[in-house]
Amino acid sequence: MNKLIISGLSKTYFNGTRALDSVSLNIPSGMFGLLGPNGAGKSTLMRTIATLQEPDEGSVMFGNLDVLKDKTEVRKVIGYLPQEFGLYPKVSAELLLDHLAILKGIQKPKERREVVSILLHKTNLYTHRKKQLSGFSGGMKQRFGIAQALLANPKLIIVDEPTAGLDPTERNRFHNILCELGEHTVVILSTHIVEDVKELCPNMAIINNGKVLLQENPLQAIERIKGNVYSKTIHKEGLEEYRKSYSVIAERLFQGKKVIHIYADKDPGKGFTPVEASLSDVYFSHIFGNATQ
Ligand code: ADP
Repeated sequence: MNKLIISGLSKTYFNGTRALDSVSLNIPSGMFGLLGPNGAGKSTLMRTIATLQEPDEGSVMFGNLDVLKDKTEVRKVIGYLPQEFGLYPKVSAELLLDHLAILKGIQKPKERREVVSILLHKTNLYTHRKKQLSGFSGGMKQRFGIAQALLANPKLIIVDEPTAGLDPTERNRFHNILCELGEHTVVILSTHIVEDVKELCPNMAIINNGKVLLQENPLQAIERIKGNVYSKTIHKEGLEEYRKSYSVIAERLFQGKKVIHIYADKDPGKGFTPVEASLSDVYFSHIFGNATQ
């Protein structure tokens, strides 16, 4: 099974933004979650793997393929679902998929019909195949995106923020499709929905400011901060004071009151109680720079 090996990948844009800062990741087959806040460098990383832009330094290998050099070969085995993709609104799903299949090099009409039909079934769009894409819901459009990304049977699938704006049922359906794919392929899923990564991905990385802060199995990462997360209900106005004294990793409202989570090496006392750590705690403790690996 092919692995994706990223080594020392760096990219600075013309305006001086260092979007990738020596990123190294070892990505086996299965679902790989890429977590990071807006501007972390996720899309830059994914566009680079998808051969759509050049890094300044570093290498990306997929099995024996040098992704940065063998672009044509890589494009044959990759499926890329960007955050937003243009759809021709007046065309039916079936027709557009057929057209895209031609562009992917599936020449024979019979073979194409078969592939299109399989993908429409797989993404639960078969009954809607004659509908114009303009009439599709957000979830249907995303599933169509997956169907087009799956043309030519990719070995490496890159999905950028796929579930934004989907209702829970649609999100579930989309996740099921991704999980099925992850059994035989490398699927990189970029998202800022932390819990999705916990549910779906046996491996993940957290990136921020172009740097990899953590690469680990999500459950192991949670296990490692177990016993270091404490919670307290506070007055809303007091938050800034707490920030000065503690590593506040999360804050939320619960029944109109402010609840904070802090990361601490030992019991801080002062009304804090230990809580079960979550992947959000792992995530924020790294983003805010308090956790040690
Ligand atoms: P993410 O996908 O995690 O939100 P991006 O890869 O889109 O992150 O962006 C990383 C950083 O690079 C951000 O600071 C962003 O503003 C900057 N950036 C992205 N694309 C460009 C570009 N074409 N030119 C200049 N800066 C860019």
